[in-house]
Amino acid sequence: MLGLMQDWPLLLHRLIDHAARHHPGREIVTRSVEGPIHRTTWAEARQRSLRVAQRLARDGIRPGDRVATLAWNTGRHLEAWYGIAGIGAIYHTVNPRLFPEQIAWILNHAESRVMMADLTFVPLLEELAPKLAHVERYILLTDAAHMPASTRLPDAIPYEDWLAEADGDFAWASFDENTAAGLCYTSGTTGEPKGVLYSHRSNVLHALTCTMPDVMSLSSRDRVMPIVPMFHANSWAIPFAAAAAGAALVMPGARLDGASVHQLLEEERVTYAAAVPTVWMMLLQHLEATGGRLSTLERTIIGGSACPRALAKAYQEKYGVQVRHGWGMTEMSPVGTVCVRKPETEGLDAEAWLDVQEKQGIALFGVDMKITDDAGRELPWDGRTFGRLKVRGPAIARRYFRREEEEILDAEGYFDTGDVATIDPNGYMKITDRSKDVIKSGGEWISSIDLENLAVGHPDVAEAAVVAVPHPKWGERPLLLAVPKPGRAPTRESLLDFLRPKVAKWWLPDDVVFVPELPHTATGKLLKTKLREDYRDHRLP
Ligand code: ADP
Repeated sequence: MLGLMQDWPLLLHRLIDHAARHHPGREIVTRSVEGPIHRTTWAEARQRSLRVAQRLARDGIRPGDRVATLAWNTGRHLEAWYGIAGIGAIYHTVNPRLFPEQIAWILNHAESRVMMADLTFVPLLEELAPKLAHVERYILLTDAAHMPASTRLPDAIPYEDWLAEADGDFAWASFDENTAAGLCYTSGTTGEPKGVLYSHRSNVLHALTCTMPDVMSLSSRDRVMPIVPMFHANSWAIPFAAAAAGAALVMPGARLDGASVHQLLEEERVTYAAAVPTVWMMLLQHLEATGGRLSTLERTIIGGSACPRALAKAYQEKYGVQVRHGWGMTEMSPVGTVCVRKPETEGLDAEAWLDVQEKQGIALFGVDMKITDDAGRELPWDGRTFGRLKVRGPAIARRYFRREEEEILDAEGYFDTGDVATIDPNGYMKITDRSKDVIKSGGEWISSIDLENLAVGHPDVAEAAVVAVPHPKWGERPLLLAVPKPGRAPTRESLLDFLRPKVAKWWLPDDVVFVPELPHTATGKLLKTKLREDYRDHRLP
């Protein structure tokens, strides 16, 4: 028997319709790429996104077509997303931090027909345009007055002129809630980038969960600043969650340095902001150097890579900001866990709570997780045993775009995150490694991340990487690569002595090599594939 409730497909434009109707005057503030602060509202943004939809339809963009964006977090980028999805087309966010060849590869693989780009990226696109086989036109997210004097981009048009040709007398298309809405490629440190294809339903469900108290806790009283880019995994769902909550948005545009972020947080009275640790680190340095305060910011999500304890401590104790450590991935829409207090942790003092906050947190609704050994057997939630972290849920990828023949789930429908983790009896998950980086010594696993975090605690070490080196007896053994701080010359022995009391004996690296620098990916992560390759023949003492 079917329920007797109204059939209301979960489509993205429902979100902006809700915000525009029930919170019409709520602001969307942008630090524009051109410079000045721009102000609009959810009501106006909806009107303009309807014009985007109408104009795209007139240009012959059909349901399922990809419309790429290469853009910062701005009001224009936001209304473009809703407009594109509102006709059943697919917003395809491209990460400008990738290598140019990767960007070209991704745009060609996606066969994106339109490119909407910020002025910042015109030189990059001019170089790439001859290689982009499918892009028919370039819409620059600006007005006529700010267009470059000349550009080699074929058929480039300022967004405002393009939009002016539509009056907004248009209705959203209606279609199945499982229709594709957005496309985002993972950076692909190994192999080709893989496209994650979000649906309207997955995005709406994820937005609703993200507003919950133990995730982002968003309300219409919040003024939310997504610093994490819209080109990085949906800006952690904030463009959708803020609409669902009727919250105001403060979009930071292209300027993400400490001083610019601080100015916007204060002047726009931001209550909640989300960013990766690097951004919070830059802001902290700025605050310390200038004696600045955070007078309205109540809480943050810090994620994308592990949030250092000292960072959480500084924001909480010196600036009165609640830190929520989060974990997720592009394939998960992207939020998976958030570290918030459960009643089970209530008795903990500040330091003990910081211990817990080093973990990535508890699963949100819609994320079912487990840890397994290599044979797929489930491992206990004892906070010590670590295994492959696997997840399933309605906002988690089932296949990759245009690789649909490839099975990526296990027999029970779980997706292997590629992370290695422990889960404690209270359900707090802690990432201990990437599965390809974990060191397998004598059948037991050694966390390269734990060793790296300890090694950078040495006063003379600036950066560290720990990689597996093949070993005849143990299979693999850890090798520590360390970059000395400028003007310092630590020794192998001093580093090993430093680590010895802090780790199990069999975790101690077999050797230490000092290097002037370590290789990184386009998104700033250590390039361990290269290190493993470079040191696979390293002779351990
Ligand atoms: P990209 O490599 O493009 O940044 P993702 O954003 O999807 O791709 O990266 C997801 C991965 O980032 C996770 O699988 C995990 O390894 C890592 N990660 C994300 N958040 C955290 C965190 N809080 N702590 C440690 N690692 C994290």
